[in-house]
Amino acid sequence: MKHKGILIVVSGFSGAGKGTVMKELINRYPNYALSVSMTTRKPREGEKDGVSYFFVDKAKFEDTIVAEGLIEYAQYCENYYGTPRAYVEEQMDAGKDVILEIEIQGALKVKEKFPDALLVFIMPPSAQELKRRLTARGTETQEVIDARMARAAEEAEGIEAYDLLIVDDDLEECVEHMHSVISAAHCRPDRNKAMIENMRKELNALVKGEK
Ligand code: 5GP
Repeated sequence: MKHKGILIVVSGFSGAGKGTVMKELINRYPNYALSVSMTTRKPREGEKDGVSYFFVDKAKFEDTIVAEGLIEYAQYCENYYGTPRAYVEEQMDAGKDVILEIEIQGALKVKEKFPDALLVFIMPPSAQELKRRLTARGTETQEVIDARMARAAEEAEGIEAYDLLIVDDDLEECVEHMHSVISAAHCRPDRNKAMIENMRKELNALVKGEK
């Protein structure tokens, strides 16, 4: 029986390393599809249009909002970020588990629209380690690093809204931990209604036939 994929929302402080975790998860397991967001932020060195993000100007972003082309969008440190609708819907219908790597305002909007979505928060082992990772990336100015640390402090207030919390101490462990919690989510009875109904029908038919 074919299952509809799960929508998985992954958030975590910027610079914590969740992008690396997601890339590794997708390389390792074939059933995940990573949504590519649209943003008005300028590309960082090495980022490719259509791969890291769809990089657009503000006018194009606002047109897409009006055309209802985004599942959700939010403003983050002066830029717009949003999730294009078509890819997510296609992939879920094809049975893939679709991962959205988005910040907390967007995560809460997704939960409202898709109550079935699994919300996962990935956290670094300490605040010091977050600062170290943000600085080590070497792509941001001190001003941007400070803004992102301030934003992390705000985002930490919302962690209880998530279904699951995973600490990203070790890449290998974090990837396997993610995969196991998603696999467990597939086993919930409310995600297997058709299979349960089918079992009930078959059981009843057998019970009746045996009388
Ligand atoms: P960055 O500029 O570091 O790539 O991303 C900044 C923040 O925006 C990160 O927390 C990232 O998860 C979030 N983000 C990326 N894409 C989206 C999106 O489509 N929607 C929302 N709401 N947040 C996003």
